[in-house]
Amino acid sequence: MFEITFLGTSASVPTTDRGLSSLLVEYGRHRFLIDCGEGTQRQLMASGLGFRRLDKVLLTHGHLDHLLGLGGLAGTLNLWRSTAGLAIHAGPGPLKLARRLLEEVVWPDGPPRMRLDWIELSAGPLFTAPDLTVSAFPVRHAGDDCFGFLFEETPRQPLNGALLDELGVPAGEERGLLARGKAVTLTDGRRIEPGQVLGPERRGSRIAVVGDCETTEGLAEHVRGVDLLVIEATFLNADADKAEARSHLTVGQATRLAIEAGVGQLWLNHQSNRYAKGLVEAEARAEFGNARVAADFDRVTVG
Ligand SMILES: [Zn+2]
Ligand SMILES: [Zn+2]
Repeated sequence: MFEITFLGTSASVPTTDRGLSSLLVEYGRHRFLIDCGEGTQRQLMASGLGFRRLDKVLLTHGHLDHLLGLGGLAGTLNLWRSTAGLAIHAGPGPLKLARRLLEEVVWPDGPPRMRLDWIELSAGPLFTAPDLTVSAFPVRHAGDDCFGFLFEETPRQPLNGALLDELGVPAGEERGLLARGKAVTLTDGRRIEPGQVLGPERRGSRIAVVGDCETTEGLAEHVRGVDLLVIEATFLNADADKAEARSHLTVGQATRLAIEAGVGQLWLNHQSNRYAKGLVEAEARAEFGNARVAADFDRVTVG
């Protein structure tokens, strides 16, 4: 099950209601902080999520409204010994910028106690565990080195209780072994292979997070069929000229992507304070019923 918490949903500058870009994706004990705008550490405190196991940061791109908070957050993680190490994933340019912030501004006199891993993103998997794969895919926004992220839960094939009962496999250790893919021998000498007692395969949940974006061209193939898509919608459709000039999306571009790619839920963030409350969401829902504008501290679970 994925849990997504929006920590900052404002575009470019914070407002009294919205912090700068950041959101946390949690899957089991894995935590991924996507972007880290100024003020993110305070948002983490206010959300109650805290700093424990916060050891992976993924940057969508190098604009300051998405990474300036990394200096303060990293300083606190190191001070409080919240994590033994911090892995920072970003495209080559943004990674260089984040590295300068930490190495030249936060720790100019030498490396911190906490280990820092600088990992240059390219398209493809960046994190794999038996139950989860996280991949990066290219996004276009005001230059190079921008990435979106796809989180995919590994499909599972649980045991079929009815078949286990039918074959007389007792509850307990035998079923545990079968669930872990091991054959068992029952007290009457019969050998049961895991393949004999599996139920139908359950597809894993999938979510995608895209940061700032100037065009949705080419994105549908990367986010096709996801249960939830987070993407920006900085401008209303009437301001398409401004959206294009500033390398951002309109509501319509985001909803058309959601429709084309067949996504389940669409969550829009990176909100401009030029619009009255509710306008962006109303425009989005008129085009795609399962669209929402994210507010700071909104929390959504998938799976
Ligand atoms: Zn931005
Ligand atoms: Zn940007």
